[in-house]
Amino acid sequence: MSLITTITSSANPQIKKIKSLELRKYRKEYGVFLSEGLRSVIEGVSLGFHLEQLIVHHDSLGRADVQKMISSCKGAVLSVNDSVLSKLSHKDNPQTVLGVFRQKISMASAIQNGIWVGLDQVRDPGNLGTIIRTVDAAGGQGVILIGACCDPYAPESVRASMGSIFNVALVSMTEESFMDWRKTSSLEIVGTALQTDTDYTSISYKKDMILLMGNEQAGLSETLRGACNHLVKMPMRGRADSLNLAVATGVMLYAMPD
Ligand code: SAM
Repeated sequence: MSLITTITSSANPQIKKIKSLELRKYRKEYGVFLSEGLRSVIEGVSLGFHLEQLIVHHDSLGRADVQKMISSCKGAVLSVNDSVLSKLSHKDNPQTVLGVFRQKISMASAIQNGIWVGLDQVRDPGNLGTIIRTVDAAGGQGVILIGACCDPYAPESVRASMGSIFNVALVSMTEESFMDWRKTSSLEIVGTALQTDTDYTSISYKKDMILLMGNEQAGLSETLRGACNHLVKMPMRGRADSLNLAVATGVMLYAMPD
């Protein structure tokens, strides 16, 4: 079992380092991210993510579920007070347990079977986290981040994923490397775009496939549209010209057979 270090000041260097994980630059430099809440931390550990630091409010140290987590933590355990915890937490009611986990981005070779969602330059981490959660809920395998995407390990994305960040594989590729990889894969690709007349209910979906979704502003790039076996559209019946990206992904994932 790890030694427990008590920290009472947010000026402590370990706390400052954890706080710096709010910035993409430092998440990239250290290769870790922060996840809030005991449930999420348990999920991460049980799915094999490496827990580097466990931060616990001192009042919760005696709880049986927290004790169990402390005994399985191979990294450092920090006992903190209210003020340190609220400095690190992004929630109005700070969680009593936070975990610093090592990031896990898979290679393109992980894209084999099942349903994958490819996102073209997704920019909003809230959308990304919601999509990760939805892919998990719908039984998908993973998310392919294509081009200059926001960081899946941004606090807003991790929070919106509600723990699914640990259960959905993530692959990151440039558009060029995706197009190269596509030549070697037999997976069918269905893209969604407004520039088509094919209704999303009119095609049959394979059990193993990639669903390509476009950027929030620009939609799916011409190059990626060219990579698709089918391009489909969900009807826009009112005055709205498109659906929100995460909503569109959810509708598509549940339109597919089990
Ligand atoms: N102005 C953008 C455009 O022209 O595509 C709208 C982008 S929309 C907010 C973000 C993504 O959600 C789209 O690229 C597409 O993948 C998907 N999407 C949203 N509404 C859709 C619809 N009605 N049919 C098909 N895809 C849709």
